[in-house]
Amino acid sequence: MKYALLDRGDRLSRDLSEQFHTQAQSKGLILNEEAPDFVVSIGGDGTMLQAFHRYKEQLEHLAFIGVHTGHLGFYADWQKNELSELLELMATSEPRKIHYPLLHVEIETAEGKAAHLVLNEFTLKSADGTLVSAIHINDEPFEMFRGDGIVISTPTGSTGYNKSLGGAVIHPSLEALQIAEIASINNRVYRTLGSSVILPKHHHCDIVPPDPEEELILGIDHMLMPMTGIRSITCRVADRKVTFARYRPFTFWNRVREAFIGSL
Ligand code: NAP
Repeated sequence: MKYALLDRGDRLSRDLSEQFHTQAQSKGLILNEEAPDFVVSIGGDGTMLQAFHRYKEQLEHLAFIGVHTGHLGFYADWQKNELSELLELMATSEPRKIHYPLLHVEIETAEGKAAHLVLNEFTLKSADGTLVSAIHINDEPFEMFRGDGIVISTPTGSTGYNKSLGGAVIHPSLEALQIAEIASINNRVYRTLGSSVILPKHHHCDIVPPDPEEELILGIDHMLMPMTGIRSITCRVADRKVTFARYRPFTFWNRVREAFIGSL
């Protein structure tokens, strides 16, 4: 079995990476960064975002495993003291493979269209002041947004930025995307729905800035890109999915409780 490994780069994560490689070798696992069967991320959910983007071209051929060096994460469910147990299971058993929905974002400029795959969320903000953008759902005008920005998240991303904005937590078995507002201006002139909106897989939304020359800041998970010349941005649930390897059960709602509520 071939594996690749990414760590957060801090002392603890680097030490755990070294331990992982040593134990993996003794169990017959082969390090192969070009074509791994499993990608192990050691750090946090942010490290998993980096691992996802490094291997997103090979999603159909690999599964991700997350080891957390801090608190339990949404993508990283093994603790730092459980490395030996994880390696033993990787060497001797077949994991359950679970598949999570992703977001497909298409950005249209005068040069054409560029597509991006997103694990947590796509964000749109203005580079200078308030963002103004029309939002269409299924090619029909829905609202004119005016405020700090818009966050469109996947179900697994719903516990990230989306949750801080008051968005709903969505179970990842639901193939959906969620549009959440960042500080929308609502008065007699500007009006938005004010609550987050959840779209099913067969729906899509377009964000249309009125002035294509305005500089916007686009966020694809942890990466920010300033851009001008945007005619429209289309978001829909992607056809591709990301796969995680589960060697033991840890339900989504238990993760949510442990991360946000703690033991009862
Ligand atoms: P960061 O600013 O260093 O980390 C942001 C925090 O979000 C970290 O604690 C991270 O967990 C956590 N996180 C990431 N994905 C999550 C998920 N799906 N569910 C729950 N928590 C999650 O940035 P980063 O490490 O590069 O991560 C980028 C992510 O940060 C974005 O995708 C966005 O979801 C989140 N973010 C949140 C806010 C906010 O809540 N106001 C603002 C901007 C960005 P770990 O500590 O385990 O890495």
